[in-house]
Amino acid sequence: MASDKRELLIGGDSVPALDGRTTDDLNPFTGEVYAVVAAAGPADVTRAVDAAQAAFPEWSATTPSVKRGILLRAADGLEARTAEVVAVMAAEVGGVGGWAGFNVMLAANILREAAAAVTQPVGEVLTTEVPGQLSLAVREPLGVVAAFAPWNAPVILSARAVAAPLAAGNTVVLKPSEDAPIAAGLFIADVLREAGLPAGVLNVVTNAPADAAAVAEALITDSRVRAVNFTGSTEVGRIVGTLAAQHLKPAVLELGGKNSLLVLDDADLDHAVDAATFGAFHNAGQICMSTDRILVHRSVAEEFTAKLAAKVGSLPHGDPADPGTVIGPMINPRSASRVAALVAEAVEAGATVRAGGNGAATVLDGVTPSMRVFQEEIFGPAVIVVPVADDDEAVAIANDTEHGLTAGILTEDSRRGLALAQRIRTGIVHVGNQTVDDEPQAPFGGVKSSGYGRFGGRWGIEAFSATRWVTVASE
Ligand code: NAD
Repeated sequence: MASDKRELLIGGDSVPALDGRTTDDLNPFTGEVYAVVAAAGPADVTRAVDAAQAAFPEWSATTPSVKRGILLRAADGLEARTAEVVAVMAAEVGGVGGWAGFNVMLAANILREAAAAVTQPVGEVLTTEVPGQLSLAVREPLGVVAAFAPWNAPVILSARAVAAPLAAGNTVVLKPSEDAPIAAGLFIADVLREAGLPAGVLNVVTNAPADAAAVAEALITDSRVRAVNFTGSTEVGRIVGTLAAQHLKPAVLELGGKNSLLVLDDADLDHAVDAATFGAFHNAGQICMSTDRILVHRSVAEEFTAKLAAKVGSLPHGDPADPGTVIGPMINPRSASRVAALVAEAVEAGATVRAGGNGAATVLDGVTPSMRVFQEEIFGPAVIVVPVADDDEAVAIANDTEHGLTAGILTEDSRRGLALAQRIRTGIVHVGNQTVDDEPQAPFGGVKSSGYGRFGGRWGIEAFSATRWVTVASE
């Protein structure tokens, strides 16, 4: 039975879709309906943009201290609701308690980082060729921002989708994933509303899966929407980026990855096993930064793989609401069968299952570049181990992918690690750590098919701002 019923958030009001339709929000562990949410169509999107546009003049002129106060109160309010986040994430996305707690911690810090940005200078005084003239570069908000948040780190990524745009003075229409309309959309809006965000500044449209393309298109192409941010797959990111480009709107696209963890011959292998297990299996491998490929020096490959397989084979699977569970369910049956097919095809072609298989957390070796699991983002509880002859081969494999999000390099020699880091084509690289890490003050984003634009710190603020040149002649 559904535990919750939720409507769209437009202009500060909870409202049904204009045609009254709803859609079921499923619990991935039980398969039961967790909540029933309003199913927006293009006309509802127009209403949401109307509200965001109407709220823009006042929000863009709101004083920094008021904006900062709202964002800081929202961060505190989110933390105060940790138990609720744990319950919602377990039921809506199958997230285990530790992952939900991490979502709260990082999302709260994203809101605090945005609060800090609000009081930063908004421009510079330039030199000028004209005697006596005042020449300024001034950063200003863009207007209405369309934001798309995925289900996998729902509280973090919905906070990220709205925090910098709001801090920069924009108003927002947020479209959460159909797999997490509450955790990736309505929840953060509730928290911000309780913190005092005025009506219409953040609007949320939820939709049925079949309407995703129509709703997204209505939002991106609305002439009043001035910028877009999208976090999701490369496949959909390409559609969103194309629409944004056709309508000449700037976009931040945070897309998929095929992230390599390099384990060099001097690495501490016990640390490497712990790091690789975390990198590959945290949130059942459903993180854009998840470790997909472990590139391990041949001289230590067998010892490393045996230790990794033993550790991964002992990870407790099951009910995400059970505090002992480390690996919860995948988000939906479609994703589970996609990963199962990647593993089965590889095994058919000669790969060896070193741990797991049959839906459990899986370690594969004996893989070859012709296998799909070697090339495609896994985005699930499986990882491949690839022995390499030397550092050059590791770099060559790490770079031989269309993606470029993150990489990790495990070595006891940080100078060697840094030299390798400079040769790897990703937006993010960690020396001495695995591939999954995020801090709100750091520039976050990929290269190649992992997308473009950056969230985080001043980069996130600049992405949702226009810089104008303003001059004032002397008398
Ligand atoms: P997805 O791309 O399948 O879905 C994202 C959203 O796209 C959904 O909410 C859906 O409503 C919308 N959509 C679907 N079809 C559309 C269409 N034709 N036009 C416009 N919108 C459409 O992604 P997902 O399954 O929610 O998330 C998983 C993916 O997200 C993985 O590839 C992962 O790597 C990536 N991801 C990236 C980051 C990052 O920061 N780089 C973070 C998290 C997830």
